Order: sequence, then structure tokens, then C-alpha cells
Amino acid sequence: MKTATIALQPPASVGLELEANRSLAGLTSIKIGGPADYFATVTHPHQLLRLVRWARGVDLPYLVLGGGSNVLISDAGVRGLVIHNRCRTVRIDPAPCCLYPQDERPFLFAEAGALLAGAARTSINEGLAGLEWAVSVPGTVGGAVINNAGAHGGEIKDNLWDVMLLDEADEVQIIRAAELEYGYRHSNLKRGESIQGGFGPVVLSANFRLSPGDGEQIRATAQGFLEHRRRTQPIEPSLGSTFTNPPGDYAGRLIDAAGLRGERFGSIEVSQTHANFLVNPAGVGGAKAADVVAMMALIQETVYQRFGVVLQPEIQRVGEWS
Ligand SMILES: Cc1cc2nc3c(=O)[nH]c(=O)nc-3n(C[C@H](O)[C@H](O)[C@H](O)COP(=O)(O)OP(=O)(O)OC[C@H]3O[C@@H](n4cnc5c(N)ncnc54)[C@H](O)[C@@H]3O)c2cc1C
Repeated sequence: MKTATIALQPPASVGLELEANRSLAGLTSIKIGGPADYFATVTHPHQLLRLVRWARGVDLPYLVLGGGSNVLISDAGVRGLVIHNRCRTVRIDPAPCCLYPQDERPFLFAEAGALLAGAARTSINEGLAGLEWAVSVPGTVGGAVINNAGAHGGEIKDNLWDVMLLDEADEVQIIRAAELEYGYRHSNLKRGESIQGGFGPVVLSANFRLSPGDGEQIRATAQGFLEHRRRTQPIEPSLGSTFTNPPGDYAGRLIDAAGLRGERFGSIEVSQTHANFLVNPAGVGGAKAADVVAMMALIQETVYQRFGVVLQPEIQRVGEWS
């Protein structure tokens, strides 16, 4: 659908038109969020590169949105340009023997907008081990690389080889995984807990190094992870875990023990299935971002009063907050 014509548009060489005042709620897994001043969907990395370089040139702050599965977008929305990354190529590349004569493990190449679970499925179908844990994790490869996403004992950093990104100096760089200073849900590409549009680096693609294994076993492991998730996590719109686990404990256990399971604020609810998930059962038009923020504050305060533990947000607040 084409929206109203707007004055600010990139040149024809970028190959797309910006939309104005585009609602973002439907592009997030919790179905919450106000509008972006300007919005574009990119499907090819050259488009992404050209759009970001143009935005930098005209001083228009931008924010890349992957699967929207870790961001709470404010009700007031995002100032500047939101770039929805749908660059989704995934392929298996054999290791060039001239470069790696002693190591024949293949690479899985994925553009940053590819779904992480889809990339995991590609590797599983090829009988390659290493990404089975990711088969049930929502979002894109770009978001996962930035957050060091992980589940079932696996993390992005375990198999990531390198990342191609557009750095802040407008250069395309290949960065080895070891340079990203990975930790628990952390990398040095990750911006703060509450962010606006800016002019930061953009992840273009990633290479994972995977090991050939027993295809049946790999498939069964991934299936087991999927079934575990279906049993233990809610199906209503959410952002997954709201808080990171404090050392030696689980945020969900503390929230539950504080008596907050099922607690409601506006239309937002502490999930009955997993107390670290805040769910928006009504979907788009249901809860407000402000309800989520209020519920998070209530949880933090209650858990601190009961157990003396300060829960840290895992989800990132995005956009303009009053
Ligand atoms: C039901 C559910 C279950 C979940 N389970 C897990 C789990 O088991 N483990 C886990 O780790 N997480 C989990 N999550 C959280 C989420 O899936 C991950 O954090 C995921 O990696 C986020 O990826 P995304 O593409 O959705 O990122 P987004 O939410 O779109 O973005 C996250 C951040 O990354 C930035 N970003 C995204 N792509 C790029 C790019 N190409 N270049 C620059 N910046 C970029 C965004 O600007 C934003 O700051 C879950 C979420 C849900 C809804």
C-alpha cells in the first residue's frame, strides 16, 4: 500500500520510497508501538547500505528493526527513520580449502534480516550441528548477533565466525566474533536499555561455522527444544523474557515467588505460563507501551522489596518517552 507523498525522499538510486507516520505495532512481537516519522522496508543489502548512507548524509537518525521481538516501542513512536530489514538470504558455503586446509567445517551465511529460526532450520536440514538451540528463537540474525541471543544452553557466540557491518565511518567491515566482546545477552554492538534513532553501525550479514553431524540426532534435538518451548512459554504476543536472569537465579522464579503471576496493568498481564513474560492478549490496539513500563516498575519494586534483587531489563525501550 502506498501512503501519502512526503517531501523527504531518497534519490532513485536507493530504489525505494519512504512512508510517513507508519505504525510499528504490527511489526513487533508484542504488537505495541507508535508510529515512525519515516519508514522503509529493505529487501536487498545494497538497498540497506544506500539507504543508511543517504540517511547519514541528510542527517536523518535511523533505527534498524529486525523481528521486533526484543523492542518495546513507545506509544509516541520513533523520531527519524525506521528501516525494516527484510534482507533474508541464507545459504551454506563450503570452507575454501586454500584458506582453511585443516578445517573443512562449512559456513552458514545469513543476511541480517533472515529469521534466526529459519537459518537454524537450513543448517538442520543439511545435517549441520551448532544452531539447533535457535530453532525456537524469534527475530532476525541481526538482532540475535547484537543481543547474543541464546537458549537451551547455546548462544550466538558459540558458532558465530564473523559479521559484516557498515561501521560509523561508512566503511563496510568484516569483524571476527571475538572482537564483539560477547557476554550474557550482550555484545559491544548493543546500545543501551533505552534508545532513539541514531547513526550507529548496521549489521549486514553473519557467517556461522557449523559441524557436520548425525542428521537424525540433530533433528531430534531441535524438535525436543521446540516441544519444550511449546510446553513452557505463552503463545500470546510478548517480547519473550522481560528481565535477564540475576546471577544464580531466574527472573521468572523471583516474579512468581513475589506473587505476581497473573498480575494485570491495563491490558498487559504477567503470563500465567511463564512469569518473566509480559503478554498482550488483545494484540494490536490492546495494551500500551506505558502499561508495560508500569508493570515492569511494579515487578522491579516488588521483587526488590521481597528478595533484595534488582531485576535488569532484557528488553530494549525504543523511541520517544515522556
Ligand atoms: C516468544 C519469545 C521468545 C524469545 N526467546 C528468546 C530466547 O530464548 N533467547 C533469546 O536470546 N531471546 C529470546 N527472545 C528475544 C528475541 O527473540 C531476541 O532478542 C532476538 O534476537 C531479537 O531479534 P530481532 O530481530 O527481533 O531484534 P529487534 O527486536 O528487531 O531489535 C533488537 C535490537 O537490535 C537492533 N538491530 C536489529 N537488527 C539490526 C541490524 N541489522 N543492524 C543494527 N542493529 C540491529 C535494533 O535496532 C534493536 O536495538 C524471545 C522473544 C520472544 C517474543
